[in-house]
Formats: sequence, C-alpha cells, structure tokens
Amino acid sequence: MIFNNIDFDTYFKNYPDENGYYGRYGGAYVSDELKKAMQETTEAYFTICKSSKFISELRRIRREFQGRPTPVSYLERLSGTLGNVQLYVKREDLNHTGAHKLNHCMGEALLAKYMGKKKVIAETGAGQHGVALATAAAYFGLECDIHMGSVDIKKQAPNVARMKILGANVVEVTHGLATLKEAVDSAFDAYAKDYKNSIYCIGSVVGPHPFPMMVRDFQSVVGIEAREQFVEMTGELPDAVVACVGGGSNSMGMFSGFLNYPVDIYGVEPLGLGPKLGDHAASLQYGTEGIMHGFNSVMLKDENGDPAPVYSVASGLDYPSSGPEHAFLRDLGRVKYDVVSDEEAIDAFFTLSRLEGIIPAIESSHAVAYGMKLAKEMGKGSVLICLSGRGDKDMDYIIEKYGIR
Ligand SMILES: *Cc1c(COP(=O)(O)O)cnc(C)c1O
Repeated sequence: MIFNNIDFDTYFKNYPDENGYYGRYGGAYVSDELKKAMQETTEAYFTICKSSKFISELRRIRREFQGRPTPVSYLERLSGTLGNVQLYVKREDLNHTGAHKLNHCMGEALLAKYMGKKKVIAETGAGQHGVALATAAAYFGLECDIHMGSVDIKKQAPNVARMKILGANVVEVTHGLATLKEAVDSAFDAYAKDYKNSIYCIGSVVGPHPFPMMVRDFQSVVGIEAREQFVEMTGELPDAVVACVGGGSNSMGMFSGFLNYPVDIYGVEPLGLGPKLGDHAASLQYGTEGIMHGFNSVMLKDENGDPAPVYSVASGLDYPSSGPEHAFLRDLGRVKYDVVSDEEAIDAFFTLSRLEGIIPAIESSHAVAYGMKLAKEMGKGSVLICLSGRGDKDMDYIIEKYGIR
C-alpha cells in the first residue's frame, strides 16, 4: 500500500534507516562511550534476534509463560449502546503481569542472555516497567537494577514491593525532582559505567537507536495477532484501530500490524486537566521538535527549552515526549493523533467495567474512551481497541479520588 509517497510494503525494511531515523526523528544523541554500547546492542539485535533459534525460543516463552496469544474480545453490550458500530478489544490485560510491557521486557532480557550479560538496568516511573523487567530478570536468572526517583518510590509502594519480591535491586534516585527524568539519567550513567556486564532495557519506543526499533519489533506481536484474530472472527479487517500513546509502545505494536492495510489508525494522548502546559502530557498534539533522553522527537518544553512538567491521571502516560516513529507517522498523516481528558477516561473506566466485566488500566481507558467517541462519529463499521493493561493497580486511587460512579 502506498500512502503519501511511502511504500508500506517495504516500510519495515526502510524505517528506521541504518542510523535509527524515521524521517527527521530518532537517532542516538548520547556520549561516545554510550554510542559504543548502542552499536553493540544494535549489532547483537540484528544477528541474534533475527535468528530462528531466538525467534522460536521467544515464541515458546510467549506461549508457555506469558499467556500468548491474548484474545480479541467483542464488546457486545457496549456496542449495543453505540448505534451500528461494533467495538472489539485486544486483551493485553491478560498478559502475565497484566499489561503489554512484558512483550518487550521478555525480548530484551532474552537478548541479554544470548549476549552473555549478567545484569539488566532500567528506570521506572510508576513502576510498571520495573515490575515487568524484574519479572523477566527472575525468569532468566539475571541481576536487575531498577532506578527510581525517591518521590515515585513513596507513591508506588505496591510496585516497589513487587520488584523487591521478584529479586530486583531498587536504586533510589534523590537528585533534582527525584522522579522519572532523573531516574532515566541515573540509569544511563550506571549503564555507561558497566556496559560490558549489563544491558539497558528501556520501557517504551523511546531513547536512542536501537531501542525505538527493538521495542516496536518486540511489541509487533500485538498487532499481528490482533489482525489475524480479527479477520478470523469477522471475515474482514476493522475499519479503525485505536491505542493510547504514552511513550508509544503498545500503540506502535498494535499499529505495526495495520500500517500496510486500508485501516484508519488513531493514537490517543492524555489531555489530563486541559490544554494548558503542565496540565497534560500530549506531546504529539502540543509539543515541538526537541532532543531528550538520547533521541530527537516531539517534546513538551518549558520556557528554557527543557522538558516541561507533565500531568495525567494515568501515570503510565505522563511522559513529555513520544517515540520518534509516532512523530514521523503523524507528519506523514498515516496515523491520526487526538486527545482524551482525565474525566473522559474515568467515565470509560467505569463503562467498560459495568458493561463488559473488564476493569481496564486507566491508561487503556483513554483508548476505550476514544473508541466510543469514534464509534458515535462513524455511525457504522468496526473499531478495534488495544486494551494495553488491566486496572487492578488503579482501583484504590480511582475510588478514593472519584468515588464509585
Ligand atoms: C506503561 C503503560 C502504557 C503506556 O506506555 P506505552 O509505551 O505508550 O504503551 C499504557 N498502558 C499501560 C497499561 C501501561 O502500563
């Protein structure tokens, strides 16, 4: 399929290019020391992860440990309230550990094992990535250092406990605002000092090349499965596909199964409390081009051009940038990006729970809310939504802050 002069039949061969660029976005803006480590990881990725031995081992692990394939579910009762549009969800909430993040963590940790590394290093904000990586490290018998700001450590006690139970070492980061950005810096520093022994495992399609590509490829299982399952269930392709975008990994995984098909694709960012800087985390909607954490993409900036403070009720979505491939697909017009507010997401959280018996993660609730809006606009057809995770982690907070609706 050709769209806007890009041939999507060969898209994954051409993007990213050999330097990790998707058009003008991407790259690897890191120190010379780290550049060597990134090159080593890139080479290992192409030789190891494309080998049939690696592929069949990862496939077996996904089936026997992760619980893949996850199903596609038809939302019969919810669809009944939306006129003539049929809504479906891809159930990443049924992955082991309750979200899509394990898809790339198992791939990254298996690569670490093949490379002979002893340790995996990462940052975490809300703790979801830390828990998924700690799970993968326990499975493969690797050491695991998770860098986390002291503010987040206090806020996310259950996830800190999970990581410790799984045998990970939680490294407290106390400088600056002591949240996600400082945790990333600290994890990068630790990795630069120890890259012979260890591998950095990023939590989304962000960071320097090869991470946006690697994480996309490990997540593409979501979109490929979803497309095959949907066609088997209905005999046709969905008219539209929807996913929420934080860093952009569940969405990139979902979208990569549909980019080369005549399907409308929508990425949903968190509008939080509104469009004022600081009240949201919608970098593709309101950001400008900029470099942070080793890659060039869109970015929400403060008056000094530094990453601005961001907010969303969904802690997994509050990141001041998005993966470079999203910025590229936005400019191309192949994917449309829009926003959903805290309020709309909370409504969708209760609606899906009540009508379908599925409690969605508050991140995923953004995609559900948008899918419902889209259905009303479309009037007929079908929408497939990526349900990136389950909402158990959010229940206490939502009941305390919003009450039962
Ligand atoms: C982390 C997380 C997200 C956001 O991350 P992406 O990289 O944008 O997918 C979305 N949903 C859930 C359930 C998460 O845990």
